[in-house]
Order: sequence, then C-alpha cells, then structure tokens
Amino acid sequence: LFGNEYSNYASVGGATNRVPKGLRRQPRRIVVTGGAGFVGSHLVDKLIARGDNVIVIDNFFTGRKENVMHHFGNPKFELIRHDVVEPILLEVDQIYHLACPASPVHYKYNPTNVMGTLNMLGLAKRIGARFLLTSTSEVYGDPLEHPQKETYWGNVNPIGVRSCYDEGKRTAETLTMDYHRGAGVEVRIARIFNTYGPRMSIDDGRVVSNFVAQALRKQPLTVYGDGNQTRSFQFVADLVDGLMALMEGEHVGPFNLGNPGEFTMLELAEVVKEVIDSSATIEFKPNTADDPHKRKPDITKAKELLNWEPKVSLKEGLPRMVTDFQKRGYPPLRADGA
Ligand code: NAD
Ligand code: UDP
Ligand code: UDP
Repeated sequence: LFGNEYSNYASVGGATNRVPKGLRRQPRRIVVTGGAGFVGSHLVDKLIARGDNVIVIDNFFTGRKENVMHHFGNPKFELIRHDVVEPILLEVDQIYHLACPASPVHYKYNPTNVMGTLNMLGLAKRIGARFLLTSTSEVYGDPLEHPQKETYWGNVNPIGVRSCYDEGKRTAETLTMDYHRGAGVEVRIARIFNTYGPRMSIDDGRVVSNFVAQALRKQPLTVYGDGNQTRSFQFVADLVDGLMALMEGEHVGPFNLGNPGEFTMLELAEVVKEVIDSSATIEFKPNTADDPHKRKPDITKAKELLNWEPKVSLKEGLPRMVTDFQKRGYPPLRADGA
C-alpha cells in the first residue's frame, strides 16, 4: 500500500512546486474529481477565476458537461472522462476529491468512495500532491449528539440502505488518515452538511431540489415522514469558500462545513412557499429507512482555525436556485407552449 512502484513516472509538479509564503503565487495545477457535478463545478469556476490550471475528472454518472462547458476552449481547463475506480496517472499540486454518487437515490450503485479514494490517495502519494476529501455529515449517522462536533464518532447502521454511503465515506476518511500517517501525504478532510444552490440536479431526489422543482411545477411539496426531522442547509458558494480555505490552510481536519441554521422539513416547505409560491400545498409520504432525525453542524473549529463561516441564508440562497432552474427550462413548457 505504501510502496513506490510508480517512481519510474517523472513527477514534474507536486509539493516542491509550492511557493514560499510571502512570494507571489504561481498558478497551481489542480485536479477536481467530480468537477462536472453540482459542488465541483462551482469549485472549478472559483479556481479558474483565481488563475489556476484545473483538470476535471468525471464519469458523468450524476454530473453534466453543461456545468463546465463555459470553460471549454480555456487553455487552463481540461476535462477527462474517467471513472476514479480505475487508476490514473497525472502530475498536479492539489487534488480535490469530490467524485461520488452523492444523492440517496444514486449512492448505492458503486464503490467510488473506497476504490476511488484509494486511487486518488495513491496518486497524491506518488506525486507529492495535497489531497482534500469531501466527506459528509452522514458519517455522524442518526446522531446522538446535537449539534455535531468533529469529535463525535457517530451513530451509523452498518447494514442499512444508506450504509454504502455513510460507511463508504467513513472508510474514505480512514484511508485518508492512514495515507497521511503512513505515507506522509498532506491531507485535508471536510465533512459537508446539506448543500443547495444553482446546478443542483433537478431530479436526484434531495429535499431542496425536490421542493423547488415541485413548487415551480405547481405540484404538492412531498414531505417524508412527519416532517419534524431537521437539516441545516448551506448555500454552495459558502461551501466552496470553506473547501478552498481548508485546502490552503495548515490544518488536516476533519472540519464541519455547513450552515448552522436548522430547519424542520415542514419549516423548509414554508420557506419554499414564501419564496416561490404561497399557494403550494404539502403532501406527506412515507419516510426512507434510517433517516437521521436531526442534523446541525457545530462549526466552532472551522471558524477558529479556517476563519470561515457561511454568509448566505436560506432566504437569500433559494431565489438564486429558482433563477437557475428557470434558466434550465423549469417548469418544462407544455407542448402547446403555454
Ligand atoms: P454530484 O452528484 O453533483 O457530484 C458528484 C460528481 O462525481 C458527479 O459529477 C459525478 O458524475 C461524479 N462521479 C461519481 N462517481 C464517479 C466516478 N466513479 N468517477 C468519476 N466521477 C464520478 O454531487 P455533489 O453534491 O456535487 O457532491 C460532491 C461531493 O460532496 C461528494 O463527494 C459528496 O459526497 C459530497 N457531499 C455533498 C453534499 C451535498 O449536500 N451536496 C453533502 C455532503 C457531502
Ligand atoms: N494509483 C493511481 N495513480 C497513481 C498512483 C497510484 O491511480 O499515480 C492507484 C494505484 O493503482 C493503486 C492505488 O492508487 O490502486 C493505491 O496506490 P498505492 O501505491 O498507495 O498502493 P499499492 O499500489 O501499493 O496497493
Ligand atoms: N425529504 C423530504 N421530501 C423529499 C425529499 C427528502 O421530506 O422530497 C426529507 C428526507 O426524508 C430527509 C430530508 O428531507 O429527512 C433530507 O433529505 P435529503 O435526501 O435532501 O438529504 P439527506 O437525507 O442526505 O440529509
């Protein structure tokens, strides 16, 4: 696991390329796995805007070319169709590892979390790149501590329908720390709480995209269970700022990155009604198994060590998502154009 059988491949980048503090920064070469996805594409925008060279690796399982198409033709941008479950050879300075089927309706389908993370850690080790893992608040499972601090070990069902994701990310965190301790790889771990915003998949089943799409289509908002379960919703731009602060900072983590504003699903439905359509109705549906009852990040650590905290409230963020959904043709026009 920690050998170096790739030493035949010349490394032209890596940690040696980093610029000492105080000097003007050279553009970095950065890989973003999952960069054609929702969070990844916003991260790519910000890295490119900062002047860095970005290689996106994505197999388009849930991501879309449209999310990054505006960079086509830019020599600082490269898009590789590749499944991170397979090894890959590249030379870069930093790896943001986001590739993962991230919605409950998708994530049971493949072993990306373990095999993909292992390959990206192997790559980071060979070339001396800094590696950032996007883990998740799901590592806390159905938490018995509230709000959740990074020191909490979680309450996860190892054999349930969500386990592939929860345990997959827990394993990914373990691998990340093992490569850090065992092979000296520079690593960073973010535990991301529920995030929403433009470019979210419209039909991937997450609650914010469901409610917004339903309100725009004049369909009832589907509340699962009694709607008293809570989540804390973070706007994607805040998350991207947090991921970059983490990557550039000196602390391994894990760090909770989320917005501590906590809402029940019924409260969320009310905000969506207020922002989009006050006449929207609610339809109750059975909840999925092992659904966490509550979730809210304690972000003291990120505030203190990364000097980061979210800035965008749900009421400010939701309208930006509505504009994006409408630009993408939602609600779909009827055949008669009405
Ligand atoms: P997303 O589905 O939009 O993006 C994931 C991207 O990874 C997609 O572009 C997909 O095509 C790609 N991908 C999946 N499997 C792949 C594979 N085997 N090889 C290459 N590419 C692959 O999801 P997102 O919301 O942007 O999530 C990004 C990351 O953040 C994920 O790791 C997710 O677990 C984490 N996260 C997200 C949230 C959230 O609320 N959005 C919360 C916690 C953690
Ligand atoms: N790997 C990769 N690109 C690289 C270096 C490694 O995809 O540039 C993959 C490699 O194929 C392996 C994984 O990363 O599956 C872990 O690599 P490591 O060298 O740590 O482990 P080993 O190959 O010794 O099991
Ligand atoms: N949920 C809901 N209606 C929907 C989709 C989801 O009430 O149309 C609920 C779901 O049961 C969960 C919460 O919203 O309690 C958040 O679900 P999501 O899939 O968005 O994220 P996660 O469960 O990963 O936090």
